[in-house]
Amino acid sequence: MSGSVRVALHVRGLVQGVGFRPFVLRQARRLGLSGRVWNTSEGVEIEAEGPPKAIAALQDTLRREAPPIARVDGVEVETRSPTGESGFTIVQSERRAGDAALVSPDVATCDACLEELWDPANRRYRYPFVNCTDCGPRFTIVERVPYDRPFTTMRAFDLCPACAREYADPNDRRYHAEPNACPACGPRLSLCLPDGAVLDVPDALEAAQERLRKGEILAIKGLGGYHLACLARAEDAVCRLRARKGRPRRPLAVMCRDLATARDLCRISAIEAEILASLRRPILLLAVREDAPLAPSVAPGLTDVGVMLPYTPLHHLLVAPDDLAVLVMTSGNRSGGPMVAEDAEAIARLGGIADAFLVHDRRIANRCDDSVGFVLAGAPGGDRLVLVRRSRGFVPLPVDLPVHTPPGLAVGAMLAETFALAAGRRAFLSQHVGDTDDVDTLAFLAEAVEGLRRWLGIDPEHVACDLHPDLPTTRYAEGLGLPVVRVQHHHAHMASAMAAAGITEPVQAWTCDGTGYGPDRTTWGCELLVGTSGSAQRVAHLKPMPLPGSEAAVRRPLRTAVGWLHAVAPATADLPIGLWTRARLGELIWIRQMVDRQVRVPLASSAGRLFDAVAAILDVCDDATYEGQAAMELEHLARPAEYADGPRLTLDLASQAGPIVLDPSSLLEGLATAHAAGQSRVVLAARFHAAFAAALVETSRRVAAGGGPRRVLLCGGTFQNQILLRACALGLAAAGLEPELPGPVPTGDGGVSLGQVLVAAAVAAGQPGRVEI
Ligand code: ZN
Ligand code: ZN
Ligand code: FE
Repeated sequence: MSGSVRVALHVRGLVQGVGFRPFVLRQARRLGLSGRVWNTSEGVEIEAEGPPKAIAALQDTLRREAPPIARVDGVEVETRSPTGESGFTIVQSERRAGDAALVSPDVATCDACLEELWDPANRRYRYPFVNCTDCGPRFTIVERVPYDRPFTTMRAFDLCPACAREYADPNDRRYHAEPNACPACGPRLSLCLPDGAVLDVPDALEAAQERLRKGEILAIKGLGGYHLACLARAEDAVCRLRARKGRPRRPLAVMCRDLATARDLCRISAIEAEILASLRRPILLLAVREDAPLAPSVAPGLTDVGVMLPYTPLHHLLVAPDDLAVLVMTSGNRSGGPMVAEDAEAIARLGGIADAFLVHDRRIANRCDDSVGFVLAGAPGGDRLVLVRRSRGFVPLPVDLPVHTPPGLAVGAMLAETFALAAGRRAFLSQHVGDTDDVDTLAFLAEAVEGLRRWLGIDPEHVACDLHPDLPTTRYAEGLGLPVVRVQHHHAHMASAMAAAGITEPVQAWTCDGTGYGPDRTTWGCELLVGTSGSAQRVAHLKPMPLPGSEAAVRRPLRTAVGWLHAVAPATADLPIGLWTRARLGELIWIRQMVDRQVRVPLASSAGRLFDAVAAILDVCDDATYEGQAAMELEHLARPAEYADGPRLTLDLASQAGPIVLDPSSLLEGLATAHAAGQSRVVLAARFHAAFAAALVETSRRVAAGGGPRRVLLCGGTFQNQILLRACALGLAAAGLEPELPGPVPTGDGGVSLGQVLVAAAVAAGQPGRVEI
């Protein structure tokens, strides 16, 4: 063709497994171009030949009209010599070393597929695995890149002629839909007993639903693992699930059939509705209605419940009947263990919990829990999604880094663990791994690291871990034979928040959480750091307080309360408060002696412990059965009075030379005294939040006034507390400072690995990567 040119277009971004090649093919044919398109390990490669105008039009549509799940990060263009090729085709993928292509996270079932699911005339009527190029499993079925059926767990299923036709037809919406399947050729459901015996039932799904109606607990194999399910309104079923799982109070998530059903349970804002129904479908924490038809044991002590909408065809079918429209759906693991994904493992692990197993024969390549978040309303900058756990729907999308890093691995801390692999300007934050004080979880960590490393082709030159010498993750890092970079926990929190916000210049960062190992060998957890990922200074902190019995105090907030009151407000011992009567025989004397003699009472400047102490003083929680329980229940107690006016409580700021010290003595004494005088616990809980936030804000104001940065980051698990987060954000803004709030990167320990990546990159660049005290 005269006047023809040929170009090569290298497309980078989220372009595999999202219908990108068929999209290119349709556009190229529409524009009368010849050439080819294929997946590479780096993305999608296009060679197109034709009139320059049509080539330009193709380049334009690549960005503007890309499929809904796709994300084009960049297109590089190179000129080639025309070959006179005719027609446009998709060619077989090639595998090349180098930078990794982005694979899509799993995507919720699209409307077109749902229509087929409910259409009795369609050959996929009620087929639990219907999907297309716009929806379906992705990350959870990928074994390696490029994303092609032979490299997914769908390779076990041969396409039937009808499915093969769809797969090969560029005009079909299932053209190159890698998980394409139908009842004739695809995965199937079956129902098993806890001993693994397969039940001979005509319809496994209906039989499972019948069992749920009777109040049974079912283990249900989903996208990234097993859920444990039961009727959400049946208190006896929920209690049985809790008893068998060994999880007395930790909140359970529910799955609702649709938005209307979710609105019967919760108050839902427009933005919350949008996120619930989005392609990612995270669990959102939503305010429960008083009259919600929900068993009290779903989320005891809390005013929120975690809600998600169905995200696979199986889930849509499962919750379709009116009497099953709200189900408890909690991760199928033993308490603390990783999400169970292998079938044999599921039977072994969950056999004592579930009455029956609804399973299917599509293998899960990558385990992936549900993501969890909430919408923070009423803070400066508008409503925002804050993720507590970043997993399904988000993983394996990378986080863009504000700096360049050599290839590196970061293994995170101990709880709510993620790891990260990074190279260049990208960090791949893993799915939620679990708590690595559990041996199984540590094994899963090693397996997942190896999987992702192979998958991304990143060969780490160093490994970053926590400064704490005794964490399982630290020992795992030391065993890898790579140079180890030890990162202080709160410095990692700070760097993580900087990466998430794309900041490199010095900031103030409040890092508040339960526990982190400080460079002075004490426990930290309420620190104001100033600096960068390269180096930071501890400019303020909570007064170090005694932890009677160390770890035992973490599990029993009552101990912390007794110890702290004795240490800083001994006069409260004569007040008529419930704390003194609830303590066990001899416990008071023994704790007070420990504190006096300073035997087995490590010091901690921990915000988490401060919330624990206040929760126990206000009769909210004596024993924590899950991480953060006391703080969560205290926050939820305070919610009705969040904006109430009244006499203020204060946290005193003391500074001689050196760091500003936040002294909780008079605050604790004030709370105990007011509680003894019969003041409302709700109001006191709210005033405690206000006092703590005011102290953080005032400290930051002083630091900024003394020439410190005006930007203030709020990071660490304590900032999952919405009242605290909102009060700090509003207070900082009112003081003329610039608050930076958490968002899509978890502010808790799930984000620590990202921060470790940044600090390790700074160390590789010759900076100290330390916190100075
Ligand atoms: Zn679809
Ligand atoms: Zn088929
Ligand atoms: Fe932490």
